Amino acid sequence: MADFETPKFREYPAVPNKLVPDATAHLSPFIAKPNHQEQLGFPGELVDNWEEKAIDKMGDLLGKYRGLRVYLDSCVKCGSCTDKCHYFQGTSDPKNMPVARQDLLRSVYRRYFTFAGKYFPKLVGARDMTREVLDEWYSYFHQCSQCRRCSVFCPYGIDTAEISMAAREIMDHVGHGQKYCNEILGKLQTIGNNLGLPGPALAATLEEYGEEIEDDTGLPVRLPLDVKGADILLITPSADFFAEPHIDGLMGYAKVFHEAGVSWTLSSYASEAANFSMFIGSYSNMKVVAERIRDAALELGVKQIIVGECGHAWRVAYSFWNTLTGVGAGADPNDEYAQRLQKQLDPNVPQPMHICEFTHDLIQKGKLRFDKSANDHRTVTFHDSCNVARASRMGTMPGGQFVIPREVIKACCNNYVDMDPDTIKEKTYCCGGGGGLLTDDLMEIRVKGALPRMEALKEVVDERGVNTLAAICAICKAQFAKVLPYYNFPMHMLVSTHQLVGEALVMTGSNQEKALQPQDEPEAEAAEQE
Ligand code: SF4
Ligand code: SF4
Repeated sequence: MADFETPKFREYPAVPNKLVPDATAHLSPFIAKPNHQEQLGFPGELVDNWEEKAIDKMGDLLGKYRGLRVYLDSCVKCGSCTDKCHYFQGTSDPKNMPVARQDLLRSVYRRYFTFAGKYFPKLVGARDMTREVLDEWYSYFHQCSQCRRCSVFCPYGIDTAEISMAAREIMDHVGHGQKYCNEILGKLQTIGNNLGLPGPALAATLEEYGEEIEDDTGLPVRLPLDVKGADILLITPSADFFAEPHIDGLMGYAKVFHEAGVSWTLSSYASEAANFSMFIGSYSNMKVVAERIRDAALELGVKQIIVGECGHAWRVAYSFWNTLTGVGAGADPNDEYAQRLQKQLDPNVPQPMHICEFTHDLIQKGKLRFDKSANDHRTVTFHDSCNVARASRMGTMPGGQFVIPREVIKACCNNYVDMDPDTIKEKTYCCGGGGGLLTDDLMEIRVKGALPRMEALKEVVDERGVNTLAAICAICKAQFAKVLPYYNFPMHMLVSTHQLVGEALVMTGSNQEKALQPQDEPEAEAAEQE
């Protein structure tokens, strides 16, 4: 049983509850063990002179990321952001107001990096770096899902997510990292995915799903692994391999690829789209993880990389892969492998491409047929995930990240309803579990932070008969699977967007041969020529 109370739905959700100072001061995630830290290049535990090192690291980040200094200098305390954070709304703790969260770091920045803070600290609210401050940072910077909703309402565009990433990077650097993110990153770097699922187990799992689809459709739809010469490499979150409703989404992608008649493959070496390095603010670790994908793409000789349903992975792919890996324009001229990959990938298709974009494109071209009545038992609503909504785009049109997933859903469902406009698209509320918070040791903040999303969902359930919640993010899905019951919603109302696609897709089998054969397989071609 949970030892906390699930927040009550509010009569007027836009109005915050009464302030409860320090309501969630007791919430902190487990600290990373020495081996989790060291495998990422951080000190195993809090170093002796950590205060000094923390300030040095802050100076380093201020020099590297100009935006960070601008964010710390430019807040005018206008108050626009104060009630915009789901964690503040769900906990009433004033330190969960975005501006107050920023001030936890800003106060230390002022003390060591501004004239006024050095000489008149009390006048400008500057604080020394102390153990009390570190503990406060550790607690409240792990009560921020880096969702960026507050920045939409800030007249100066101050991005609390960047401040929270910087704080976490400083903490890692002095040996005070978070267990959940760092342990997972270690597994990813050694085994290839967050789960630590080895290649043979993955191959057996994929074979089983192929058989399941065949039993269902009578068609030999396969989920290929490590096929050299395939046109498309699918990079998808490892949750798609083992958890519901993620698996149904994976089967939906497989059906789409089959119907499209394209050759595709997954990679056992790069069997993970997630890149938690972004959550801990570590660009160098983000590069190490992304390079696995670059190397897999080079090894398999693919022409295109498509990313499955994962919010932050899409942000990393869309916004960072070009400089990290050479996928997209702007490859590092000194990175030989990135240059090779850029030449190898087809310049006539989006690199990278989101799976929703791929499916949407086929729908636009009339290449997929749907029997929408297969989803007639559903009235669907869609949750925009933060990293897709506010940190990346999809397709070529402005706002494509909002339009494309909705058009895909509407192409395969007759009944679709949006939630309150103040809670979707660029104003979407976080699911409550993003940004490295999807761990059981933070369940209380996850449940409380889900309040605004659950309130908007309840409205369309009660007023518009919604019984299905679709998402395109592995973290959102995993979070909702846990928190829906806390708010008395049935877990089975949650679906992957490509589950809806897969359920309504009319499988003709006309492309079956092409889909099963890797196209332009270099070795096969060479053998034929001989
Ligand atoms: S969780 Fe989102 S809204 Fe809250 S402070 Fe962090 S970035 Fe802002
Ligand atoms: S909205 Fe921006 S400027 Fe106003 S208090 Fe919040 S962070 Fe500061």
